[in-house]
Amino acid sequence: MVFEPVIGLEVHAQLLTRSKLFCGCSTEFGAPPNSNTCPVCLGLPGALPVLNREAVTMAVKVAMALGCRINPISIFARKNYFYPDLPKGYQISQFDRPLGEDGRVMVFSGDRTEAGKIVDRREKTFGITRLHMEDDAGKSIHEGDADAAAKSYVNLNRSGVPLVEIVSEPDFRSSQEAYDYLTHLRKTLLYLGVCDGNMEEGSLRCDANVSLRPEGSEHYGTKVEIKNLNSFRFLQRALDYEIERQARSLSEGGEVIQETRLWDESEGCTFPMRSKEEAHDYRYFPEPDLLPLKLDPDWIEQMREELPELPGPRVKRSMASYGLSLEDALLLTATPALADYFEECAQKSGNPRSAANWIMGDLAYVLKNTGKEIENSPIPPGHLAALIRTLDSGEISGKIAKTVFEEMCRTSEEPAIVIQRMGLVQVSDAASLSAVIDKILALNPKQLAEYRSGKTKVIGFFVGQVMKETKGQANPQVVNELLQKKLSTG
Ligand SMILES: [Zn+2]
Repeated sequence: MVFEPVIGLEVHAQLLTRSKLFCGCSTEFGAPPNSNTCPVCLGLPGALPVLNREAVTMAVKVAMALGCRINPISIFARKNYFYPDLPKGYQISQFDRPLGEDGRVMVFSGDRTEAGKIVDRREKTFGITRLHMEDDAGKSIHEGDADAAAKSYVNLNRSGVPLVEIVSEPDFRSSQEAYDYLTHLRKTLLYLGVCDGNMEEGSLRCDANVSLRPEGSEHYGTKVEIKNLNSFRFLQRALDYEIERQARSLSEGGEVIQETRLWDESEGCTFPMRSKEEAHDYRYFPEPDLLPLKLDPDWIEQMREELPELPGPRVKRSMASYGLSLEDALLLTATPALADYFEECAQKSGNPRSAANWIMGDLAYVLKNTGKEIENSPIPPGHLAALIRTLDSGEISGKIAKTVFEEMCRTSEEPAIVIQRMGLVQVSDAASLSAVIDKILALNPKQLAEYRSGKTKVIGFFVGQVMKETKGQANPQVVNELLQKKLSTG
């Protein structure tokens, strides 16, 4: 029997506010343990939450960017559960009246071949069930300390940090679709400037629901929730493993148990963590310490007008304005900073194709090797554009451009200054090149004789010698023309 995977994602994104969701404590990452705390986020009795306006603004923008309907009234609710890093004994979340509902996103998604290549990428629509706001829990620390075998620690700096939870419809039919959706979601958050998208530091977290059903069936199978997917690679590997595991079980006449499983990257498998909890296990009820959140329709419209250009439209504009392929456009718009860099370079150089090649090739290599982001590129976009213009004008050869580029990475200078200082201007002057050619011909009588006897391919050897003699500065085209002329006239 052939099974079809049914996948949904729940993504938690930490909002980039300076203070927490319900108190004025700093959200700074890496502060000394428990230093960013107060009675509210420590959950002390009698402390009252006050909603952070900036967090609401950011959450509304995310909901809009994901095509959600913004509910003019949403309600905070207590989600009750016990955990040592949750001193209140409940999270303040939203339940039956979330901030946003019924969204949809257009994602460029494709199929992955066995070799890992993405083919047939096209625009697909995926549904968003809901978006709600909630506060984060603290962090339990079970390892890393000398007495870790006997003790666990808790750091409540993260307690009360604002999150949005984005729940998708179960619309993904492959791990690749889930991967592409998460990529799009992260990109959207970066474009809005509301989340740093860092999965390793936990500011973007993802859980997945997976079930299988016989192909063609309308009914959903029993679903399993997978947690601990803290990178894009983990998500894809965990989904592939789980789809395979469930298919094997169902093919053998077994059944899938509804449960929560954890991804173990070192073992390359998922393993059971606990039986799946239901909403009623949390005994949700409206938060009595907070009023319903009422949004002014005029303010909502104002927020809509303030939305920046989003990833989808920017990809399409990059293709239309600069002639990029879809894959290149997706790469070059990965972050707003990269997209801005590319556009500035493309416009100032007048050669978008060459700008794209330099950025995705040589510059990407340098940034990767030095662990830098495009924001801290040693070469500003205007300088790279100047290099491209100098190359296109024939002033320098492609080979010299690479040398200039390397020096620009080192010194952050303009290309003209590097070319001047290193004496790298291309020599196109016929008189001086002619002298070099005469010298080379005189030095290589054997090859000259070969040429005369009809082995005209030997001209390549002469060009090479001239380039070597001029340390790569001779204009190869001019050298070729001069050689042709000299050799034919004998
Ligand atoms: Zn606090």
